[in-house]
Amino acid sequence: MSLSFKVTRNQKPLPDSEREAIIANPTFGTHFTDHQVVVVWEKDKGWHSAEVIPYGPILMDPSSAVLHYGQEIFEGIKGYRHDDGSIWTFRPQMNAERLQRSAKRMALPELPTEIFIESLKQLIAVDGAWVPKPENEKTLYFRPFEIAAENFLGVRSAHRAEYRVIASPVGPYFTGGVKPVSIWIALDSSRAGKHGTGEAKTGGNYAASLLAQNEGYEHGCSQVMFLDADSATYIEELGGMNLFFVYKDGHVVTPALDGTILRGITRDSIITLLSDRGHEVQQRKVTLDEIRKGFSSGEITEIFACGTAAVITPVGSLKSREEEIGSADALPGALTVSLREELTSIQYGRLEDKHGWMHRLSA
Ligand SMILES: *Cc1c(COP(=O)(O)O)cnc(C)c1O
Repeated sequence: MSLSFKVTRNQKPLPDSEREAIIANPTFGTHFTDHQVVVVWEKDKGWHSAEVIPYGPILMDPSSAVLHYGQEIFEGIKGYRHDDGSIWTFRPQMNAERLQRSAKRMALPELPTEIFIESLKQLIAVDGAWVPKPENEKTLYFRPFEIAAENFLGVRSAHRAEYRVIASPVGPYFTGGVKPVSIWIALDSSRAGKHGTGEAKTGGNYAASLLAQNEGYEHGCSQVMFLDADSATYIEELGGMNLFFVYKDGHVVTPALDGTILRGITRDSIITLLSDRGHEVQQRKVTLDEIRKGFSSGEITEIFACGTAAVITPVGSLKSREEEIGSADALPGALTVSLREELTSIQYGRLEDKHGWMHRLSA
């Protein structure tokens, strides 16, 4: 299914000099481009009215369903400028399919893959100048999202929804660059339970993680690690990133996708890159105790987290009010650093794209 997009240009785009100053030194998610995409869905009409319009506030009725019952899902995907000036994105079919799975779980309409990819192209056609130069990890971060936009109070899935895309020029996610971060182990709150919404990329999962994250900040940690809701024994993931553990003999372990963990596209890509290099990758249950023992015996040599926003981030220590595993002063591991370099080089078009992951957005 495809739709043609109606384009209404912003009559007051940010002056070139101001845009240039922002994209020379972007901070994560604070500035937005001159336009946004909107596509409307209605139960009796399906997807229609695809438009590119000036960036600006959403005029919303206070009874809009998303404000009351939380039907909201989103994606995060980046636009990379290559050295020849062209603009590309990474595995957009995967994001489109994940948005569809999230939609299904949250009883929202599934946006066809073609419309998802076309929406990114449409935004680049008008806001391409917002994609920073390919240096210091600068990219344009797209935030596609879908909300229930029917005005009514009552508990049922909305009969009207909106898909939108906004975009923000970004630099490195964690201020301070690629140095190991400390992670706070949530002992008093869970992110996702069996048959819950853990596999959907939905705002509610993030809302549920913020109390523990605040506790983590107080203890000098930048992210929170969640354990399984049933037994608090198995490691699941961070608030917004998946986890990998590197063993001395070269095998790598990551928690298996069991319905409570977000299916990270970075996670999937790293598994492929590791396999290409001949590393055995085990996707299985991992207990916190295994990590504790492995770290103190030296069996585990590196821990890293991954996601589109922060790419690959070395983890120095896992902390809770009871213990600290590892040290925040650790150096980033060699495998962590080289995987990061390999993945970003593919994304910036500097390394052969063997798996056909890159997708051109600019004309
Ligand atoms: C988005 C997200 C990730 C990372 O997914 P990527 O596709 O690699 O960006 C991991 N965990 C959670 C909870 C997420 O929301």
